[in-house]
Amino acid sequence: MTIQILPEEVASQIAAGEVVERPSSVVKELVENALDAGADQIIVLIKDAGKRQIEVVDNGGGIAVDQLELAVHRHATSKLNQAADLFQVSTLGFRGEALASIGSVSHLTLISRVQDQDMGGSIQVEGGEVSEISSQGIPPGTTVRVEHLFYNVPARLKFLKTDRTEKRHINTMVSRYSMANPAVRFKLFQDDELVFQTSGSGDPREAVAAVYGVSTARQMLEVIYEDEILRVSGFISPPNLTRSNRQEMLFYVNRRPVQDSALSAAVYQAYHTLVMKGRYPITVLYLELSPDRVDVNVHPTKAEVRFEDKSEVFRGVSRAVRRSLLAHSPVPGVSNLRGVNLWGGPNPGHSHLQRMEDPAWGAAESGLRTAPGDLSGDAQVMAPLNTPILRLIGQVAATYLIAEGPDGLYLIDQHAAHERILFEKMLADRKNPPSQTLLESVVVDFSPASADLIRENLSLLRNLGFDVEDFGPGAFVIRAVPALLGKSSPEEVLRAAVEDLEVDESPLEGRLEEKIIARVCKRAAVKAGQVLDPEEQEVLLQDLEACQSPRTCPHGRPTMIHLPVDFLERKFGRTGPM
Ligand code: ADP
Ligand code: MG
Repeated sequence: MTIQILPEEVASQIAAGEVVERPSSVVKELVENALDAGADQIIVLIKDAGKRQIEVVDNGGGIAVDQLELAVHRHATSKLNQAADLFQVSTLGFRGEALASIGSVSHLTLISRVQDQDMGGSIQVEGGEVSEISSQGIPPGTTVRVEHLFYNVPARLKFLKTDRTEKRHINTMVSRYSMANPAVRFKLFQDDELVFQTSGSGDPREAVAAVYGVSTARQMLEVIYEDEILRVSGFISPPNLTRSNRQEMLFYVNRRPVQDSALSAAVYQAYHTLVMKGRYPITVLYLELSPDRVDVNVHPTKAEVRFEDKSEVFRGVSRAVRRSLLAHSPVPGVSNLRGVNLWGGPNPGHSHLQRMEDPAWGAAESGLRTAPGDLSGDAQVMAPLNTPILRLIGQVAATYLIAEGPDGLYLIDQHAAHERILFEKMLADRKNPPSQTLLESVVVDFSPASADLIRENLSLLRNLGFDVEDFGPGAFVIRAVPALLGKSSPEEVLRAAVEDLEVDESPLEGRLEEKIIARVCKRAAVKAGQVLDPEEQEVLLQDLEACQSPRTCPHGRPTMIHLPVDFLERKFGRTGPM
């Protein structure tokens, strides 16, 4: 074996592998370049989910004709001069790699004109081969067209997901940058259809509204915070507006979208006790700090950064969020009620219960394997048999029902029980669901990505009893909901349904339906902390008795805890050695 220096073509394809993973990575790099060029209008045109064409048109500073060839050259950049600059990066790009990398795995056309020249020029790159420059009459600004991405890297092509998924990644990418740059007017077309746009008014809340819908944006709480090293601004959702995953916890460091689980943790900490475990707030938080306190050169696509004063930054973020929450919403946490211990001491089951609310556990927890059967070490959680006939005694802490059975006392979690009841009923009604028409139909806005998902699953939703209709970009009209859910907010149950679609890439149809039903029921079920009148309590108990698997909720948590008579006797010292 001899060691050889790789041919340029191979080396650049390897490098491209790091930067260009999928169509949305190309969109990211081109949009960053447009922003670095000072554009205030950016148009993104996508054909066939980016496989056929990605074009980004901007009205920024442009590239002089005699520099075009350099622009597509590897390690050629106008944004950095010396190594020291690496610690002062204030632009989004600085590696001088993107255009060269993209050009090595596609047909790339770069057309540009600077303001004070009459003519622009264009240059083409095909699999790394650079063409002659031809002169071109265009308005000032830059257009980059990328065709046949990965035409020469079949392995990459093979690993692309469905068009739906790739489009969703692109939509998400564009909406992320649009929220960090509210003064820039963005337009995104997929196959000639305008799917997303912002006004460029400069108002960040307006940009957030374009992405998440007006009603969500209106509910978001503002964050303003500053300390010696950090400024935090942006928006967070109130504790009653949450999602089932972290995907909508967005952070920007000096306007660069970043992923950082420690930042999410800092926010999460601030919401502690205000949201249920397994629920996540929506955040759009802009962190600003001096560029020399952040290392942006730690990740090939610059998605991660490293802070010099890590713990201070996290503390600042947590404090910023906490302050905003306190200022805006003195919400009594439902979660506090969950911690109430009927037995006087610390609630031993509580931490278990919380852990099981994490969605990562949910589905995997079949039966009662992790059920907190250790309430004082003795009480039992029953194996899933049918329930005995129960006599209602009443409600405690607005959260649990107490009932007497032939063999002792039963504590029933009203929320889990109702979830189970709704779940079995909806499952049974599938394909022929009683649907309840709303007196007034409701229009709801969704992010472009969620909107796509709804559109693709309209028939599935119809099978469950929803009547939902496309109502222009991102908006849907809800005309009817499953009758069983008639008492819940139509918007909330639809959102609950879609959230699940977002987490799941491509589950089997049957499973998907079941998961959606479970999710929707969770949202629609009576909550802990809700006072029920005796009649409602009675109906809940009877409906639970009629269930096939009354002992667990659809996510596998127990609906009831049984305290057998002999357990009570032991505790009161009535049996055993006196
Ligand atoms: P980087 O952004 O890291 O500098 P790129 O390969 O993305 O590297 O771009 C190389 C150079 O081409 C940039 O430094 C910039 O000077 C120029 N350039 C690329 N896109 C644009 C654009 N849309 N407008 C103006 N200049 C651009
Ligand atoms: Mg760049």
